[in-house]
Amino acid sequence: MAVAHVIVDVATRQLDSHFDYDVPSGLSGIEVGSCVLVDFANRPVVGWVVGLAETSPHARLKPIRAVLGGPYFSSVAPEVASWIAQRYICPLSEALRLFTPPGGTPRAVRVGEGEEAVWEMRRAGVGPVDDRWAQLTAAGREFVPGARATMQRAVVDALAAGPLRVAELAADLGSVDSALKRLSDLGVVSIERRRRMRDAHVRERSAPRHERLTEGQTHALAAIHHALDTREGDVIVLDGVTGSGKTEVYLRAIEEVVTHGGSACVLVPEISLTPQTVGRFRARFGDDVAVLHSRLSAGERFDQWDLVRRGEAHIVVGARSALFAPLHDLRLIVIDEEHESSYKQGSAPRYHARDVAEEIARRTGAVLVLGSASPSMETRSNCESGRWTRVEMPQRVTDRPLPPVTVVDMAAEFAGGHRSMFSRALVASLQGVAERQEKAVLFLNRRGFASFLLCRECGFVPECDHCAVSLTYHEVGSRLQCHHCGAKHSVPAVCPRCSSPYLRQFGAGTQRVEAELEQVVGGLPVVRMDADTTRGKGGHARALAQFEALPSGVLLGTQMIAKGLDYPEVTLVGVINADTTLHLPDYRAGERTFQLLEQVAGRAGRGERQGQVIIQTYWPDHPAIRAAAAHDASIFYDQEKTTRAELGYPPYGRLANVLLWGQNQGEVAAAAGDAFDRLSVACPDGWQLLGPSPAPLSRVKGVWRWHILVKAPNDADVSTPLGAALAPAPRHPGVALAVDVDPVDLL
Ligand code: ADP
Ligand code: ZN
Ligand code: ZN
Repeated sequence: MAVAHVIVDVATRQLDSHFDYDVPSGLSGIEVGSCVLVDFANRPVVGWVVGLAETSPHARLKPIRAVLGGPYFSSVAPEVASWIAQRYICPLSEALRLFTPPGGTPRAVRVGEGEEAVWEMRRAGVGPVDDRWAQLTAAGREFVPGARATMQRAVVDALAAGPLRVAELAADLGSVDSALKRLSDLGVVSIERRRRMRDAHVRERSAPRHERLTEGQTHALAAIHHALDTREGDVIVLDGVTGSGKTEVYLRAIEEVVTHGGSACVLVPEISLTPQTVGRFRARFGDDVAVLHSRLSAGERFDQWDLVRRGEAHIVVGARSALFAPLHDLRLIVIDEEHESSYKQGSAPRYHARDVAEEIARRTGAVLVLGSASPSMETRSNCESGRWTRVEMPQRVTDRPLPPVTVVDMAAEFAGGHRSMFSRALVASLQGVAERQEKAVLFLNRRGFASFLLCRECGFVPECDHCAVSLTYHEVGSRLQCHHCGAKHSVPAVCPRCSSPYLRQFGAGTQRVEAELEQVVGGLPVVRMDADTTRGKGGHARALAQFEALPSGVLLGTQMIAKGLDYPEVTLVGVINADTTLHLPDYRAGERTFQLLEQVAGRAGRGERQGQVIIQTYWPDHPAIRAAAAHDASIFYDQEKTTRAELGYPPYGRLANVLLWGQNQGEVAAAAGDAFDRLSVACPDGWQLLGPSPAPLSRVKGVWRWHILVKAPNDADVSTPLGAALAPAPRHPGVALAVDVDPVDLL
């Protein structure tokens, strides 16, 4: 008798282990990673085989009903999924789903009504790669299907909007083959094979293989080579300034891995997953590269994923979730810009790709390479303790010095009677760019919501005495609040530091900046790049192409222009307001700001001409600003370490953020109070509970949000007590609760 260990696809924390099922002798093709149909709690459900055994300690096992597909993952996947479920307090099936095919999990659905209802399988999006496309012919547009030809009608309706892959049609409509055949015989629909969508949204870019490596590159590659040999899951941190040639190091390391039959996974932040970035990998490795990101359609994503599974692509370049692609013989994981907050998933399972990657490396022996020009505090601390290996790449490839940075004190500008959002220094430099017919990048630091008060004369921003974060300004009721501990304050009439009456709400949108820019340097073309102008498929690429095509001009944008842009002709980078992120109500505000500035500054002077950076701020002596100005990270990190250690923030302590949200504010507040009481009982001595308080983003789309912050010692297991304390069903049915373990965003 054969027994399969099956994790049923039912998302509840109670099901934290597999169940045993009998493998009937007639059933073939069951392996670890297979998708199966089983009976569970008197109904058919989808399950995933995570192990096989000869016998089971349980009597009278139910049989597996059918094999639905697969295998989709290796035996490492369930181990890592268990780790994720435990650490991030999520259902095991939810964690395992990360490893299963994208584009919809197979589901068992009830078809029909009453007594006659039967269970059927639906496997939306899951199917073999199909290159066939269907489209209406010219004659087809006039075609009227017969009254009873419902499937034909459905197909014609679907195609009226444009060509579709047959696989996508089938995923929506069910079995379409006979209808398609009939329609094609009638000359209504044409079916053609197209080149696979692999090249979707990817512009090839030349990526010359540089024969002579820099000293930094040589060191980095030697360290990686050694780690690949030992196969002990080592972590190597490339701490290299922008332009130091980290990408070339990744490319070489991947080359070594694939020549020896292994495969590699490269994660880049979603926002910098631009055609430019992907193009460099494509240019070097061609069709061996699969690309996974959220802008692909479900069908495209499935295609890419399936190429990997079938071993046709040995390299995956993608966002966070590409970490779970079914690569065979994974030997190298690269995480570029490892400090980026987008590596943490914002919805369940709230995993951090860096931590999961380390776990995968530990279990497979693969090497994990973390690259950044401004490594996170966590990564620095792991290097200092000797757990991870740090390789420095302090020199730019071109030997071009990093661009000089000028910090402009906006309070001084204001005092001097200059009230424009453009300082005199920035205006002068922009005019220089216009005269010399060069290009500039203007960066508007913006996080949309968080408003704070700022004294335009001295730069003062009110802060919470206990939490060392900026108080958030609420227009309604005109009050200030700390969104960590909940403390409320009234708005002072004048600046508490300098008594100026110019205490104002801070922030401006790109449109206003564009209008004002027009006044200072009219005639210089401006390409605006923000969430509004880049909406839709390819919007991002379009804006960049537009900027690239200009002989001279300005790229004006928000956070999304900070990363990955490599335009040698950019000679000026201006940061209009460095302070916004500095005052986010989050203990990482300083770190974020430094990283952002370091990255933005790296956009200047990548080519032959000398670059220049201008940072406008009301807080010129903040360590994050001073560090960016001097291109010396230690100025910031030395001080930040002390602050974090004193307050017990990561990496000198662990955090969990308990979030509650719902439609009714009173109910959410009550539920938060309840949760707080339970946590007070469950958390050991020495832990700290902050709150409950409204979250900094206290109201999103009509939903009220509250939170409780749990601070624990560094070596504590926060997941077990929190999971247990919050597991009982809440007494407030209208309120949802989630625990964010190791949060990177406290908003
Ligand atoms: P980073 O990823 O560290 O910002 P890049 O990998 O983008 O740096 O490298 C910056 C530029 O230098 C790229 O245009 C790249 O092609 C080039 N480059 C990289 N390595 C070398 C090398 N060894 N010799 C010459 N040019 C190089
Ligand atoms: Zn003041
Ligand atoms: Zn506080």
